[in-house]
Amino acid sequence: MKIHAALAHASNSQFSIEEIDLAEPGPGDVLVRVVATGLCHTDLTVLANPALPWPAVFGHEGAGIVEKVGAGVSKVVPGDHVLMSTASCGKCPKCLSGSPSYCSNFRAMNMSGGRCADGSCTHTHNGKPVFARFLGQSSFASHVLAGERSVIKVAQDLPLETLAPLGCGIQTGAGAILNTLRPRPGSSLVVFGAGGVGLSALMAAKISGCSKLIVVDKVASRLELALELGATHVVNAAESDVPAAIREITGGGADYSVEAVGAPKVMEQAIDVLGQGGTAVLVGMAGAEASVSFNPIVLQNKGATIKGSIMAGENSLPELFIGQLIDYWRQGRLPVEKLLRYYDFKDINQAVHDAHDGSAIKPVIRML
Ligand code: ZN
Repeated sequence: MKIHAALAHASNSQFSIEEIDLAEPGPGDVLVRVVATGLCHTDLTVLANPALPWPAVFGHEGAGIVEKVGAGVSKVVPGDHVLMSTASCGKCPKCLSGSPSYCSNFRAMNMSGGRCADGSCTHTHNGKPVFARFLGQSSFASHVLAGERSVIKVAQDLPLETLAPLGCGIQTGAGAILNTLRPRPGSSLVVFGAGGVGLSALMAAKISGCSKLIVVDKVASRLELALELGATHVVNAAESDVPAAIREITGGGADYSVEAVGAPKVMEQAIDVLGQGGTAVLVGMAGAEASVSFNPIVLQNKGATIKGSIMAGENSLPELFIGQLIDYWRQGRLPVEKLLRYYDFKDINQAVHDAHDGSAIKPVIRML
């Protein structure tokens, strides 16, 4: 079928919305008409990768309505409303033990470009292959072909354009707290970076009952929003000695820290500000060559822990976790709408621009 997609023809190029061809849903596939999709920094990180086979279609926070299902699909039927998350195999030890965000076949499932077993491509442009099914989706398009495991059925009264980013960014921030870190009530927690992931971590830490919630960023307007979302303290990194400020607020060091910037120097700070027995979780995406250093003796003497977290985090199934997050949203405890700025599909390049300069915390593109 013919669909419209935002094609990137080269690394860091502008998107151009063009008609491309999409294969019929194969066994286990679901065809979804996209209503809205979030734009995530991971889209822009991969857009910057010169080694990708171009053209490519990105986007991995899609939400929409099922139009057609392939053979063997029993989870959804046409007309169902769905959010979408990354693909996982369902067969490896991590998937089988309830941590599909760490699927051993993640790369093959999410970065293979949409090649079928026979070598053909699901997405083509003028007969030539398009790199697609990015992170299980390629949702910068009118339609997505997703695996059954990637789609999560949601109630029809829910606003898809508000909840689309639950598929990645919101889930990643909240999952780092609620599933990977599991902070004790009454503890202190520092969030580095008040973007979509960091502010989602903040909201989740408030749900967890942390009593000191500190947010660090360089942008005053983001820190104001952090206060509105439940931060008890904010530290402007452009004006303050961050480690000193955090030691003073926490009386020596934080119980937990979350790095949601993706900068090695900030990761080092997140480790440095830990108090005795503290745990840092690294969520921000640094470049492939990045390295972080810390003093092992200090870490040993503190009994501190450094963890990583992606997507739903440890021991969590996106299918169940996204339902949990939707419950929090209905209760007003996860007001994700405060992070969003909407764009029409034709204005996707403006959304990219505003994500780069930080003026939009979480851009959401409407396909209507
Ligand atoms: Zn797996």
